[in-house]
Amino acid sequence: MTLVAPTATTVGGPALPQERRLVTSIPGPRSQELMARKAEAVAAGVGTTIPVSVVAAGGGVIVDADGNSIIDLGSGIAVTGVGNSNPRVVEAVTAQLNAFTHTCFTVAPYDGYVSVAEKLNELTPGDHAKRSALFNSGAEAVENAVKIARHYTKKQAVVAFDHAYHGRTNLTMGLTAKNIPYKSGFGPFAPEVYRAPLSYPFRDGGLSGAEAAARAILQIEKQVGAENLAAIIIEPIQGEGGFIVPAPGFLPALVKWANENDVVFIADEVQTGFGRTGAWFASEHEGIVPDVIVTAKGIAGGLPLSAVTGRAEIMDSAMAGGLGGTYAGSPIACAAALAAIESYREDGLIERAREIGTVLIGRLNALRTADARIGDVRGRGAMVAIELVDPATGAPDAALTGKLAAYAAQHGVLVLTCGTYGNVIRFLPPLTISDELLIEGLGVIAEGLKQA
Ligand SMILES: *Cc1c(COP(=O)(O)O)cnc(C)c1O
Repeated sequence: MTLVAPTATTVGGPALPQERRLVTSIPGPRSQELMARKAEAVAAGVGTTIPVSVVAAGGGVIVDADGNSIIDLGSGIAVTGVGNSNPRVVEAVTAQLNAFTHTCFTVAPYDGYVSVAEKLNELTPGDHAKRSALFNSGAEAVENAVKIARHYTKKQAVVAFDHAYHGRTNLTMGLTAKNIPYKSGFGPFAPEVYRAPLSYPFRDGGLSGAEAAARAILQIEKQVGAENLAAIIIEPIQGEGGFIVPAPGFLPALVKWANENDVVFIADEVQTGFGRTGAWFASEHEGIVPDVIVTAKGIAGGLPLSAVTGRAEIMDSAMAGGLGGTYAGSPIACAAALAAIESYREDGLIERAREIGTVLIGRLNALRTADARIGDVRGRGAMVAIELVDPATGAPDAALTGKLAAYAAQHGVLVLTCGTYGNVIRFLPPLTISDELLIEGLGVIAEGLKQA
């Protein structure tokens, strides 16, 4: 229960008291009412992490209808990097709403879309000529990246990796690795999608990045063949798959092989992008230059926007009319993105992601030293996770993970779980959170571990 550093309220949103405050149990009566209505009105397949009725959010907290103030360590899945209702975003969106809401860019274009494309071309790794195309969701952008790579290479196969997550549409479900809940019963999936082994340092017996890449490349050559392969798609740090940071050298070796074999290397930076890992894009940590980079989540301060950015010759391959969508690159979302990019830059949020990472990794490693159930602490910047295991065998402990996340929610801290084995707790706070709130949230996690 602490006060905020001044930047958290001014950058992150409405001047909400930056505190953990529980005035009812969670869910309180008003939240229970909403959850009961949800059960009657909303399809059961649309799940929720925490059963609350949100009425406000900003800085590092979410406030519910019962007056509880919950520490947000999830950012709506890595979306609100600039905070909720960031003042720059609110102002830009309001002005855009008053000007016009929609014309459809492919019917009557406007400045915001082109400006976002220019920014993306400038900020993404590599100083080659680039082009961008905008869409609405991460999955839609991934689909388009694959379309473009196929059109350019005139080849069809796509390789994705173990533990990958690329979305919930038909093609992206096929690219996604995990069966339940993402795929089971939703097939058939798109053809010409193949899977390769990842570098997963905690679980692959300590293969070096080069060794893990050689293993993946051998499998791709033997099972698919470069002559059939349009693209490799990979998250530089896997998100839903468990915040897996590949061993150094793994990504550069894959890029090199792709470049030598006329295969488009697509980096899915939907979760890792926009400052989250302490750089504009996670590809920068390994010094790789993807041919195509897919972005979404953190791009527009919470408004729906996604993008595909890539080498001009690849991106320009598709014919006019081949790319687009009614709402793709909405003027409102573009206004939000330009303001969010300004906030990342002007408000020092990328540096802030690194500071958050130092706090997270330091505190979580201290916990790990004292508690062998934390098998691994990993991540970069404000994208950090713990993998929970049976200390005797190293087997994933999904039950403990579920208990810990539930304990945190009941005590006013929102954390997300992830991982193929459901045994990873991930920390993805808004970059506008104060150290005090972050440390308090981690204290609740530590207490939860003790009690579990
Ligand atoms: C969330 C996510 C997607 C899908 O984005 P949506 O906006 O939910 O469609 C794709 N790739 C990665 C890495 C993601 O984290």
